[in-house]
Amino acid sequence: MNAAFDAKLNADLDKLKAAGTYKQLRHITGPMAPEVHMEEAGDVIVLSSNNYLGLSDEPSVVAAGKAGLDKYGAGTASVRFICGTFDIHRILEDRIAAFLGTEAALTYVSCWSANTGLFPTICEEGSAIVSDELNHASIIDGCRLASKAKRERYKHGDMADLEAKLQSLRGCAPILIVTDGVFSMEGSLAKLPEIVALAEKYGAVTVVDDSHGTGVTGKTGRGTIEHFGLEGRVDIITGTLGKALGGAAGGFVAGSHALIDTLIQRSRPQLFSNALPATVACSSLQAIEYLDAHPELVEKLRANVAYFRDGLKRLGFKPLEGESAIVPIIVGDTAFAIAMSDALLKKGVFVTGFGFPVVPEGTARIRTQLSAALTRDEMDRALAAFETVGRDVGLLK
Ligand SMILES: *Cc1c(COP(=O)(O)O)cnc(C)c1O
Repeated sequence: MNAAFDAKLNADLDKLKAAGTYKQLRHITGPMAPEVHMEEAGDVIVLSSNNYLGLSDEPSVVAAGKAGLDKYGAGTASVRFICGTFDIHRILEDRIAAFLGTEAALTYVSCWSANTGLFPTICEEGSAIVSDELNHASIIDGCRLASKAKRERYKHGDMADLEAKLQSLRGCAPILIVTDGVFSMEGSLAKLPEIVALAEKYGAVTVVDDSHGTGVTGKTGRGTIEHFGLEGRVDIITGTLGKALGGAAGGFVAGSHALIDTLIQRSRPQLFSNALPATVACSSLQAIEYLDAHPELVEKLRANVAYFRDGLKRLGFKPLEGESAIVPIIVGDTAFAIAMSDALLKKGVFVTGFGFPVVPEGTARIRTQLSAALTRDEMDRALAAFETVGRDVGLLK
């Protein structure tokens, strides 16, 4: 052990602690659900999971994962193009493509891996990427890896700025416009109709990472593209299997046959890293089947979001408006947001406070996320905790 190196790490960690931004992991002792037991906090209602449809402990999803382990064993001990591809990978990929209405899809071990595997593969010399400044970290890192592309960021949701950037990149090909479908800190949707119109005007390729939209937005939970009726007009969709679709892990890229074949040939995480575990492929496949058979889950989620949002407003909170299952309450100061989430945890509600630098200074927030699995009683108990804590911290009169 290098003592000097360790001392440096500890000094840096102390700085995080002093700044109040040190993260403490909390340990859940059973499946993710609306109510869980935490080693550090006891029994709590969860309002900070991406388990939007409650599928992570849906019995048929769990059973599919177990059957997958029995059928395929633990894994192939190989990368995919050597001998690491199971039939279930193809079945899942065909299912994802059918679900999203694309020609084809390719899975990765995470959406992080999908985004970092996508951009450098399709961006050669002469290409360009225009990215919303609030895009997810995995898109930012994926774009960084695409070092041969010209890269521009447009102001969040600012279509005039996006168009100006597109004009400045005339002559580049391809030009990619990339955006989150749902922005996770705001709960707001990308302005996809305008983005698609601009892409069509400038001959750009659209990439939408719909990780927080899949299973949530759109009438049948197919995501933000369905929400806006833009089926067939977005070129590339990336997403995660680690949120609404079972919540284990895994990500994907969906698009044309040519795109997917290119990624199979050249995307580095495909070539040099093992595939999605077969157990997860099986449970994720069942999560998609379950959602397809139960579109009422999406309705239930939407009703829960409306109920909880109205409840917060009735108490006097001012949650950000939006059409996703993310309902943030801006409280201003980072330390205040963290203190409020700590107080809520003591009252049995697990929500995360986000502050600078994750969100701009002065816009620290308590971010609640709803699930179709929450009961009215659980939401009422959570609202009661918000009322008590809101008064205690002086946010409510
Ligand atoms: C959560 C998220 C990811 C990461 O997904 P993983 O599958 O957990 O790697 C990527 N992009 C967006 C927009 C996300 O919200």
